Amino acid sequence: MYDTVLHRNPGESEFHQAVLEVFYSLGAVADRHPDLVESGVIERLCEPERQIIFRVPWTDDHGKAQINRAFRVEYNSALGPYKGGLRFHPTVYLGIVKFLGFEQIFKNALTGMPIGGGKGGSDFDPKGKSDVEIMRFCQSFMTEMYRHLGEHTDVPAGDVGVGSREVGFLFGQYKRITNRFEAGVLTGKGLDYGGSMVRTEATGFGLVYFVREMLAAAGKSFDGKRVIVSGSGNVAIHAALKAQELGATVISASDSGGFVHDPAGIDIGLLKDVKLERGARISEYAAERSSATFHHGGSVWSLEADIALPCATQNELDHDAAADLVQNGISVVAEGANMPCTPDAIKVFGENDVLFGPGKAANAGGVATSALEMQQNASRDSWSFGQTDARLDEIMSGIHTACAEAAEEYDAPGDYVAGANIAGFLRVARAMSAQGV
Ligand code: GLU
Repeated sequence: MYDTVLHRNPGESEFHQAVLEVFYSLGAVADRHPDLVESGVIERLCEPERQIIFRVPWTDDHGKAQINRAFRVEYNSALGPYKGGLRFHPTVYLGIVKFLGFEQIFKNALTGMPIGGGKGGSDFDPKGKSDVEIMRFCQSFMTEMYRHLGEHTDVPAGDVGVGSREVGFLFGQYKRITNRFEAGVLTGKGLDYGGSMVRTEATGFGLVYFVREMLAAAGKSFDGKRVIVSGSGNVAIHAALKAQELGATVISASDSGGFVHDPAGIDIGLLKDVKLERGARISEYAAERSSATFHHGGSVWSLEADIALPCATQNELDHDAAADLVQNGISVVAEGANMPCTPDAIKVFGENDVLFGPGKAANAGGVATSALEMQQNASRDSWSFGQTDARLDEIMSGIHTACAEAAEEYDAPGDYVAGANIAGFLRVARAMSAQGV
C-alpha cells in the first residue's frame, strides 16, 4: 500500500513521512479489525477527497503584478466539515499541504469534536511585505477560495504566516463576496467579530496541559524543571508562558537567525514585545536582557534540560539533536509544531526511555479551540476566558487519556505515537466505514 502512496505522490517526501509513521502504528489494528481493512479505509485515507490548486495574482506596492500558487486540500470529511489552517511560507507546495492535512485528520479526530481534516496555504512569503500588500494578497486568495468554503463545508484558520491580521483580511473578503456574516467560515478571528477567547494561546497552553498529564502519569510535574523551547511565534510564547506558570523555567527561544539561552527563565513580556509587537529578530531579546546570550546559528537542542518542546517547524529536531538531548538528560519531548521531530529522532527517544508526545496529540489545542469558536459562532454566543480555557484543559486531558488507553490496549504502554495514531484512526475509520464507500 505504501508503494502506491509513493507512486501516486512523487517527490512529496513530507507526505510520505507522515503516512509511513501512521502505517507503522496500524499493523495491530488491521489484525484486530479486518472489517476496516476490507472496506478499504486505509487506502481511502491516503487519498484526499479533493485537492484544489489555484493562482493568486496581486499587485505589489510598486504597481507590479505578482503571482503565487495556493492550495486547499480537503482531506477527509467523515467527522465534520474540513478543518485546518492555512500556511503562507515560501516552502509551501502540495506535499507540505498534504502532510499537514493528513496529520490534521487524526489530530482533529483525537479532540473528540465534530471536525474533519483539511489544510491549505500558499508559497507567498509575508516577510517584508507591507500591510497593504498582505491585504491585497489575502483578498485575491479569498476571491478564488470562497467558493470552496462554508461553515458546514470547509473552515480554514491560521498556521505559520497566517495570524489574526490575515484571518481578518480573508474574512472581510469572504463577507464582501458572499454578502453573509458567516462567522463560522473561518476561525482565529479577532475577538470583536466572532473570535474566541484563548484561541491565540490555545496551541501553546494545550501543549503544556498535555505534557502536564504525561508527567503526572509518570509521577512527575513541571515544578522546578528546565524546559527548552524552540521557535518564538504564538505556540512557543504561550507554551513558555504556561510552563513557567506551572513552576518550570524555560531557558530558550529561537528564530531563523539563531537562539537565545536565558538560564534565568524567559521574560515572556519582553519576548512578546520583540517578536509580536516589534516583529524584530530574537537577537534583540538578548541585547535587552542581561541574563541571556544570543547564539548565531547553532541549536537549542545542545542545551541541558529536563523537557524539550519543539515549536518551530517540521523536521527541526533530527537524530543527532535527539542524541544530544538524551546525553544531556532529557526525559520528556513533546511536539508543539507539526512533525518537528524526524523519524530517526523519535527512534532515539524510544530507545532511551524518553517520553515522547507526538504533535497530532500534543498540539491539538489550537484546532480544538477553533472547534469551540465554531460552537460559539453557531450559537451566537461568546464565552469567558476561564470557561474556554477550562474546556481546552478538559479536551487535552481527554486526548491524553485516549492515547494512553489505546497504547495500553494495543500492547504498547507509554507509546504515545502508537496511542495517538490508533485512537485517531479508529474514530475516523469507524465513521468512514459506517458512511459507505
Ligand atoms: N494550524 C493549526 C494546526 O496545525 C490550527 C488549525 C485550526 O485551528 O483549524 O492544528
